[in-house]
Amino acid sequence: MNIPGTDGFETYPLMNNYGYPELELIRGEGLSVYDDSGREYLDFTAGIAVCNLGHAHAGVTEAVVRQAGTLIHTSNLFRSSLREDLARRLLKLSELDKVFFCNSGTEANEAALKLARRHAWSQGEQTRTKLLSLPNSFHGRTYGALSVTDKPAYHEGFTPLLPDCVCPQSVEAVLDAIDQETAACVVEVIQGEGGVRPVDADLLQAIEQRLHDVGALLIVDEIQTGVGRTGTFFAYEQAGLHPDIVTMAKGLANGIPIGAVLATATVAEAFSPGSHGTTFGGNLLAMAAATVVIDTVSQPEFLKRVREVGEYFGQQLTTVAKDVSGCGLMWGMTVENAGEYVRQARDKGVLLTAAGGQRVRFVPPLIVSERDIDTVLARLF
Ligand SMILES: *Cc1c(COP(=O)(O)O)cnc(C)c1O
Repeated sequence: MNIPGTDGFETYPLMNNYGYPELELIRGEGLSVYDDSGREYLDFTAGIAVCNLGHAHAGVTEAVVRQAGTLIHTSNLFRSSLREDLARRLLKLSELDKVFFCNSGTEANEAALKLARRHAWSQGEQTRTKLLSLPNSFHGRTYGALSVTDKPAYHEGFTPLLPDCVCPQSVEAVLDAIDQETAACVVEVIQGEGGVRPVDADLLQAIEQRLHDVGALLIVDEIQTGVGRTGTFFAYEQAGLHPDIVTMAKGLANGIPIGAVLATATVAEAFSPGSHGTTFGGNLLAMAAATVVIDTVSQPEFLKRVREVGEYFGQQLTTVAKDVSGCGLMWGMTVENAGEYVRQARDKGVLLTAAGGQRVRFVPPLIVSERDIDTVLARLF
């Protein structure tokens, strides 16, 4: 596909799956990013809910520089007290028992789906292979994660997908589909890519109950909602869930690639030496960055601020925008044309992302203040 009127596209060396972005950002600090002409933008994308502590965060920078000058990578053939300490911190926050580190969200979900199937298999239940997901879900782009993603456009040209993945078209139908063949159901507490749509907590709890009744697992995808984004460390805490498996990525290392799968001891046992692996997963650079992120975000005072500022944001946005939904510092609103809205916001010095054709998403760094929110809303409305 050529983009009419876009100079330079013919010689652009990158594949076309992101089109031809116009803006180059060369520097950031806190909430601000700057283009090559020195123009400032307030970044309410945070690298798609990644840079939770803001850009060029001193603590993260210091930890990454120190680690890069010490040892970047050794592989999982060797122990790392940094990795083990980080795992213990995550387990304490989640009340789960074991961690597997990888490099991205889709990889975390891929590992979670494999773990769920292998758990059933290791219990002698070879026919328990069904993987369920919710309508409007997004879980990533690798074949497993894509197969539990309810977005026909993302499937186009890639079928056949993974067998035994079922995505019923209502949450009630998900309940009906949970049976003795079900290995797991994967859910988001707030559907991020799906337009910042919270899923009803009662329905999520009913799904959990039904899964546990039939001996199947609940996987909560906290890739976007985790690491304080919704005002608690995990969003599932607010929904009153007790997942068997939790996946994390995005905000976990403030921009250094990372993913993590957390599981109960019984479920984690399904992975034995050699059954799953990764070269880069758990690499020391990501571990060093994530340690700073976790130590900062898990502070009760920090999370309380996210809830306060988030509530203010939601209130203010509701007074000016349509169909506002979200929680903490994750909000969405409905507009006529999300792509066009995002372009116009950029020209006003605000970076936003679309989450569907008519939904605009606000996921600023968690260090955002009420004043920053006032500034952004004044520029937009
Ligand atoms: C972004 C996202 C993913 C995929 O993560 P990647 O790091 O892009 O592979 C999966 N699930 C949810 C809920 C996400 O927001």
